[in-house]
Amino acid sequence: MTDYKALEHEYGLDLYPKRDLVAVRGEGAILYDESDNQYIDCAAGIGVASLGHSHPKLVEAIQQQAARLITCPNILYNDVRSKLLEKLVEVTPLSLTQAYLCNSGTEANEAALKFARLHTGRPNFVTAMRGFHGRTMGSVSATFTKKYREAFEPLVPGFDYVPLNKIEKLEAVVNDKTAAVMLELVQGEGGVNLIQADYIAAARELCNERGALLIIDEIQTGFCRTGKFFACEYFDLQPDIMTIAKSMGGGVPIGATMLSADFEVGPGLHGTTFGGNPLACAAALAAIDVFQNDDLAKRAAELGDYFETQLKAEDLSQVRVVRRLGLMIGIELKQKAQEKLTHLLDNKIVALPAGANVIRMLPPLIIEKEQIDRVVAVLRACLA
Ligand SMILES: *Cc1c(COP(=O)(O)O)cnc(C)c1O
Repeated sequence: MTDYKALEHEYGLDLYPKRDLVAVRGEGAILYDESDNQYIDCAAGIGVASLGHSHPKLVEAIQQQAARLITCPNILYNDVRSKLLEKLVEVTPLSLTQAYLCNSGTEANEAALKFARLHTGRPNFVTAMRGFHGRTMGSVSATFTKKYREAFEPLVPGFDYVPLNKIEKLEAVVNDKTAAVMLELVQGEGGVNLIQADYIAAARELCNERGALLIIDEIQTGFCRTGKFFACEYFDLQPDIMTIAKSMGGGVPIGATMLSADFEVGPGLHGTTFGGNPLACAAALAAIDVFQNDDLAKRAAELGDYFETQLKAEDLSQVRVVRRLGLMIGIELKQKAQEKLTHLLDNKIVALPAGANVIRMLPPLIIEKEQIDRVVAVLRACLA
């Protein structure tokens, strides 16, 4: 049998902390390795495969569109793209009435930063400590964690970082040079940290008062993950810009920057070759259809509750606290998470870290209760 691991190590750039699993096939919440061993996938492509792997409706839409039209430049109109644009405006908060389509989360954030400077004529941004917004030069400048930034300096100037949920800190830095405040409503990579309702309401007000835009990064929280279609709905929040990606296409790369009505960006100022391609748009339309018709927001809320109740973390001696919104679950340990993640994988469960001592679970929203029971049993055994 071909040694796929050796090939990746030999020819791939060594960027990722690899797990000992060659995933070759997926179905629902299950991943299969070369020998057909089954793993429960609580990483889901890092919050991407919310519909599970190879959802039949998604597969059908991609197959049909692949046979019809895969690429179409944005200088031409396209049937599928036009329908997706309309759909995105329908499902996102009311304040957002226009969309820019791209291919990934970081591109959605790059566009958000550019459009914010363009619209306000102001240079600066404020983001949150422990926030994560992506790896390209603008997005990584918006990202707090030094490890991601330092080696690549000089970065885009004009970024300030403030601690989350401390409104006085935000008040101290937002001024007439601030183009935008950019926040996640639940910090994903940074440890599954939940924003407080009074904080985000005050931040919205502060931005209005001082003429700064509010950018909400829903790249990880979006599309039913937190128990609402978008986490904004928990706070009745109307952002000026919202960025989305990850589970938007059910696994097919696609992202978008959603904007309020008053943005005007003239032709030629920004763009993308692949963004808005019919193949990815067809996948996103099919995925959104399933999110809506199967009410996966409700399912994420219920299964998240179930997961936490079954876990009963209070009696687990190695757990400090569980933070959770829907099926976005962070289990903060009193020790490093890595050893536990290895133990989980040995027990055929794929999970994620979020910082050094948080186990993060982002299972497909279609995961079955019995599969959660299995995950919880292994977690309880290794965290008692
Ligand atoms: C993953 C993520 C990004 C970056 O998305 P990519 O598609 O990896 O570029 C940005 N913001 C948040 C909140 C994310 O979780």
